Amino acid sequence: MVRINQIYINGEFVTPHGTETFNLINPANNQKIGEVTLGDEEDTKAAISSAKEAFKTFSKTTKQERIAYLEKLHIAVSKREKELAEVMVEEYGGTLQFCKMSVQNAISAFTTAIETLKNFDFEKTVGHSKVRMEPLGVAGIITPWNASNGFVCTKLATAIAAGCTTVIKPSEMSAQQTQLIAECFHEAGLPKGVFNIVNGSGHIVGAEITRNPDIAKISFTGSTVVGKTIAKGAIDTMKRVTLELGGKSPNIILDDANLSEAIPMAVFGAYMNNGQACIAPTRLLVPETKLDEVNELAKHTAQKVKVGNPNEADTIVGPMVSEKQYERVQSYIKLGQEEGATLLVGGEGKPQGLEDGNFVKPTIFTDVRNDMRIAQEEIFGPVLVIIPYKNEADAITIANDTTYGLAAYISSSDKERAERVAAQIDAGRVSINGFPHDPQAPFGGFKQSGIGREYGVFGLETYLEPKAILQ
Ligand code: NAD
Repeated sequence: MVRINQIYINGEFVTPHGTETFNLINPANNQKIGEVTLGDEEDTKAAISSAKEAFKTFSKTTKQERIAYLEKLHIAVSKREKELAEVMVEEYGGTLQFCKMSVQNAISAFTTAIETLKNFDFEKTVGHSKVRMEPLGVAGIITPWNASNGFVCTKLATAIAAGCTTVIKPSEMSAQQTQLIAECFHEAGLPKGVFNIVNGSGHIVGAEITRNPDIAKISFTGSTVVGKTIAKGAIDTMKRVTLELGGKSPNIILDDANLSEAIPMAVFGAYMNNGQACIAPTRLLVPETKLDEVNELAKHTAQKVKVGNPNEADTIVGPMVSEKQYERVQSYIKLGQEEGATLLVGGEGKPQGLEDGNFVKPTIFTDVRNDMRIAQEEIFGPVLVIIPYKNEADAITIANDTTYGLAAYISSSDKERAERVAAQIDAGRVSINGFPHDPQAPFGGFKQSGIGREYGVFGLETYLEPKAILQ
């Protein structure tokens, strides 16, 4: 049993004032693996004061000094790469394949920030004036459970590049992962108060970050519902917000695509991170004339997907993070049948032999209409919906007929055609023929998928305030 009973404030691990505890459960077998003591408002206020004090000097650091801090962080996090992946598998249930990649992303957040910083001018001339890009102040960082340390590292690296100090509130369900990353950050030897980490619940620690006048900006990744609560609360003190929220991303298979490549890729994509990925391509849009062929290929692929122990190298789908999340996914599988969609593969209940954990059968619905709730709402589990379309224009209309706009995917053998379609899709990122990653390209959502962008220059500028000097 692991007991996590410290938080990180002003350069040291301290016992929180809060006394409430939260159980940490292994989602693969629902056994209790540990306990975390949660911080409260008082702890959050102490963390914010420490970050506020540190900002006075950290905001004046040079580019070279910040690059040196980012290099130290990169080294410290890299050293514990293996442990970081192992604890993510145990506590979160992500597959080994996914967790290794996620930890790689966390590590590369620091090198990406260094690269951005090297090429960024904090002073420019605009019109006849000098414009100085000033760090905003203390940034509140609030993150979800589905790739906890990846989000923490990306946001912290960008804040540091900008000269901001931080108070980080990860998901309480990720406490072991948080403990490990806090140890890495501590080892990097940054000035006291530059980063503070408070374990705690959203309605206590998250709410204090949202309310507190000494927080200048919030960078939040999580659900659209909570994002709206934060945005409403943040306006009272006019905090800047970056919100990375939910998605229901369309994957358009154009009629000239190679189906035998595109469909298996589409199924694996929908199941990425056990289906608990904001960018997952969960709506598969296919030409109606090819629906039978697509159904056959999709079913065949899903039946081959290995569900089970996330520690095994060939597992594709591990357990849902919690029993609550399992129940949520089950309710959508039931709903899809009630709405009249055709269940192609999977369905309700746990796969045989995996009754102890929060395992879901990889599921596909076909003949889905885009106005069904299973096509409109984020399920956050391994459930793919196949929606037939009549022609290209119809596909674009269906793709955009959603309140979300985080990501979109297009498969075609004609790149120019795919780009023409991409230009008409309302989403922050449109990927053509696969799932390429570009850590310098802006990441964020149109519509209710969020506000603002992360990564690269776009991400850095959200931690800066332009000041024009006119003479
Ligand atoms: P969540 O919104 O429930 O929680 C996210 C964080 O917000 C947690 O740390 C939580 O404690 C905190 N929180 C909860 N209530 C709060 C409040 N009232 N005030 C302040 N903070 C509060 O999300 P989750 O269930 O942890 O994660 C899943 C969601 O995250 C999905 O909707 C998914 O799409 C989204 N997500 C988005 C992205 C993206 O980049 N756009 C990436 C990953 C996940």
